[in-house]
Amino acid sequence: MTKKPSPGRRPEEVINPTGEGRARRAGGRSTRLLGGPPLWLAVALFGLLSACARSPFDQNVIAKNSDFLVLTAGSGDTLESLAAQHLGDEKKGWVIAELNGIKRVRAGEEVVVPLKPISPAGMFNGGFQKIPILTYHRFTPGKSNCGRLAVSEDAFVAQMAYLRDRGFRVIDFKDLADFLAGKVVLPRKSVILSIDDGYKSVYEIAYPVLKRFDYPATIFVYSDFVGAGSGLTWKEMREMVDSGLIDIQPHSKTHSDLTLRLEGESEKAYRKRLAYELRHPADLIERKLGLPIHTFSYPYGAENEIVIEAAAEAGYTLAATVTRGGNPTFAHPLVLRRSQIYCGDSLKTFARRLQTFEKISLK
Ligand SMILES: [Zn+2]
Repeated sequence: MTKKPSPGRRPEEVINPTGEGRARRAGGRSTRLLGGPPLWLAVALFGLLSACARSPFDQNVIAKNSDFLVLTAGSGDTLESLAAQHLGDEKKGWVIAELNGIKRVRAGEEVVVPLKPISPAGMFNGGFQKIPILTYHRFTPGKSNCGRLAVSEDAFVAQMAYLRDRGFRVIDFKDLADFLAGKVVLPRKSVILSIDDGYKSVYEIAYPVLKRFDYPATIFVYSDFVGAGSGLTWKEMREMVDSGLIDIQPHSKTHSDLTLRLEGESEKAYRKRLAYELRHPADLIERKLGLPIHTFSYPYGAENEIVIEAAAEAGYTLAATVTRGGNPTFAHPLVLRRSQIYCGDSLKTFARRLQTFEKISLK
């Protein structure tokens, strides 16, 4: 015996008999995001979505207020095209992806586009966002033997592929500065790549890999090392900067531990020396490469109150240590945490350096 379809009932009515069905689905979608955008969002969407007409094949804006736009995606729509059209920047596709819990847009699907930043401070139900910063030093070719702070090319490629395959987005220190100032929302899985000292192997080995993955990185150079045997040259730095992927920032002049006072050095002389260690490489980078200076990397990650004060006086917005961990929106901008990557690190160890969320218990 076969079941007869009910007469007069169109297929879409079976799938979606009333406007309430849509509202329920939207509610379900928001539920998946809990721990992400807050509950008020689900409530707001519920209100927005009632009384909407559905057009499954062409892009159709079905609701809009000053905070959100709800549309049904057309067949040619992608995350990037929707971001370009409604947010004015195709690179903001991730904003739509994260809010809707989707990886791509399907024709006929309801998509919510946030017109204002959501949770710019990175605070969510149950915890807060953290931005990990990875720190490399030297690189060795192929799978050759690495040294403690020299990562092999093969390991570096595997780590970059890990970031790509796990949906990480590589951002830079300017993005972090805006995040710490509460101005922007960053992708939930954001990470920053930094490379200290300015070894030539950065140009020879890491740079081609970064280009292949299209990942930005910041190289912190100490100016006395520039042009030395195994140090980068200004020409190599120029070429990397011109690619648009590489930023060069200061790592002092001499790479001495800035927290240590020389024997018999007065406080006045110490502060003067600090100012020179902080400003001299900055002035050189500005003059030789035309780059704005914003972030300092403390040699050996060593800082104290006097050094931090000197960094602020020298005009730095951000400064980084090598204390392991990520940076929430309330991190001290001149005492940023970074995690060093060592030659023997397995991908499992590498993954542990990429924590982007810290749970907080309200009990
Ligand atoms: Zn260093």
